[in-house]
Amino acid sequence: SAPDLYAVIGSPIQHSKSPLIHNAFAQQTQQSLSYEAVLGDENDFKGSVDAFRARGGCGLNVTVPFKQDAFQYATEHSERALRAGAVNTLVFREDGSVLAENTDGVGIVTDIQNNHQVLISDKRVLILGAGGAVRGILEPLLSQRPAEVVIANRTVSKAEELATDFSDLGCVAGCGFEAVEGVFDLIINGTSASLAGELPPVPEAVIGAETVCYDMMYGADQTVFNAWADRLGAKKTIDGLGMLVEQAAESFFIWRGIRPETGAVLEKQRALLHQ
Ligand code: NDP
Repeated sequence: SAPDLYAVIGSPIQHSKSPLIHNAFAQQTQQSLSYEAVLGDENDFKGSVDAFRARGGCGLNVTVPFKQDAFQYATEHSERALRAGAVNTLVFREDGSVLAENTDGVGIVTDIQNNHQVLISDKRVLILGAGGAVRGILEPLLSQRPAEVVIANRTVSKAEELATDFSDLGCVAGCGFEAVEGVFDLIINGTSASLAGELPPVPEAVIGAETVCYDMMYGADQTVFNAWADRLGAKKTIDGLGMLVEQAAESFFIWRGIRPETGAVLEKQRALLHQ
């Protein structure tokens, strides 16, 4: 029989790494599936998804700018997806129902804890940014029981709103960049400032000799944020490539019920970045 069909949908989509990652997982786990990149219609997400399903599509990964549209499209949402308000994984069931999941948060937590041996439990965590990506990671992060999470954002009201929305899951506060006080064990940059080569203006004192910094962005060169953190003597800096591979592994697990090994795939993606 024909292999099961999956894809990542976004706009633009031609540079997506997801097809290579998922096809490597499929080969490794001997699953009979094919995984494509689909350019979504920014004016008609539903039409694009319906067309993919008409071709027999079993599931989609969803990226910029459709994560909220995908949330709307789904008929059922995991607890985590409801919290995130945005989804990166859809499952098309045989009965016609559509399950929504968000695996970004599991992705970053798995990367930090399993690939970098940094435990989140009891740590003081600073998160920079309060956009969709940060909302998506808060539930899995808080489930690891950090001592405290401070969300700092350029638009302060958005940080405060996020802190309020997640306050039932742990100790979370929101503020502006300049108002951040003290040194942190783990700092996650979830702003898109790095894309513009900019640095969120947080006090240098947030970085100590034991601080681990994580930039959700990645590229061939070190990110501006991680270069800044290294210069200030951070213990370790990590970029978001591992998050990308781990969120893919979690989606693969949801679709196929089998958990791929990520180590070799991550190494391969790292090598490709430097080509
Ligand atoms: P959003 O557009 O939803 O949010 C952007 C955030 O960045 C906002 O908090 C915004 O602040 C802040 N910001 C933007 N520009 C600046 C700046 N110049 N200085 C300070 N703050 C700034 O984006 P997302 O949340 O979807 O994505 C954020 C980042 O995370 C992106 O770089 C994306 O590539 C990365 N990402 C990585 C993933 C991975 O797998 N590695 C997965 C998902 C995202 P304000 O509210 O004031 O506008």
